[in-house]
Amino acid sequence: SIRLLDDATAARIAAGEVIERPASVVKELVENALDAGATRIEVEIDGGGTDLIRVVDNGTGIAVGELELAFERFATSKVDATSDLLGIATLGFRGEALPSIASVSRVEATSRAAGQDSGERLLLEFGERLEFGKTGVPAGTAVAVRGLFSNVPARKKFLRSAGAELGRIQTLVTSYALVRSDVAFRLTAAGRERLVTPGGDDLRGAVAGTYGSRVAEAMLELPEPEPFADGVTPAFSVGGLAGAPSISRGNRGFITLAVNGRWIQNRRISYAIEQAYHGFLGERRSPIAVVLVKAPLNDVDVNVHPAKTEVRFLREDLVFGEVQRAVRSLLIATTPVPAFRPTTRPHAFSGSGG
Ligand code: ADP
Ligand code: MG
Repeated sequence: SIRLLDDATAARIAAGEVIERPASVVKELVENALDAGATRIEVEIDGGGTDLIRVVDNGTGIAVGELELAFERFATSKVDATSDLLGIATLGFRGEALPSIASVSRVEATSRAAGQDSGERLLLEFGERLEFGKTGVPAGTAVAVRGLFSNVPARKKFLRSAGAELGRIQTLVTSYALVRSDVAFRLTAAGRERLVTPGGDDLRGAVAGTYGSRVAEAMLELPEPEPFADGVTPAFSVGGLAGAPSISRGNRGFITLAVNGRWIQNRRISYAIEQAYHGFLGERRSPIAVVLVKAPLNDVDVNVHPAKTEVRFLREDLVFGEVQRAVRSLLIATTPVPAFRPTTRPHAFSGSGG
């Protein structure tokens, strides 16, 4: 017979859509911190994320009386009935993340809005409230998630080793740290620091904090877009850093893309960057690049599946061309192409060479 699911079961099933693994929790919490205008975000991991994921930010915080509401399904401060869903500037907007996380873990959340003199603390287990009260905490928000998936054994079995899950988390935090160099990030796992970036729009510093200083020093700057003659800046622009050919990698995991400050994955745009390096890198080598695209908000469709980072461009060919041209011309301007390098010694290919 047909029955309506009880709320807890419905929430647990819905959570599976958004929260697939520990890295999904980190993604949602970091995005909330960014949406709250944080300039400092700390992520702490234990046991590959199933023991502990803790994200602490110095953002706007949650106003007194609203912390519990934040954990209700479809509760959001980012979208209302009048919003145009095409032009969303925040990373979240569905109001599903916190309740989804809470339905499959034990959550301790504390928050204090700037300007309010006390904050609130909420403790939930599998979506049920255990404790709630006032508390003295720094301005901002801290969410600790413990025992992830302990009530969903099937999901837990599907996870890989703690090391592999941590690897995914590190990749994710690295991506955010690179595309949001205005924010200082710190990731620690089992008490050890894995990455730390300076914030303050220091993109090269963010590369140093994630990939190391040798890579940071070998990154070339994509030039700032030239304003048009009438002073208007172009609707599309491409900025960021592209690695000199001397620092290539053996896999594609080092191309990071963002559109309008949002980390995205897009195979075609990544391919445009690889293509731009054609002739500059050896076979099976891949570049290191952080490519930041600016595009008109309504050219970008963010209303895709929440767990995915793929973003569609309404004019993808245009973006492909712009990205490829920007990276290619930077490489040509700064790196001699071996095949076209003028011979410095007139008789380089004759005589006693060896
Ligand atoms: P969404 O991000 O889609 O709005 P969430 O479930 O992730 O949904 O969060 C619900 C609401 O809780 C947000 O809209 C926001 O108002 C508030 N919130 C969540 N995390 C934070 C945070 N770190 N700082 C400030 N407010 C937060
Ligand atoms: Mg959110």
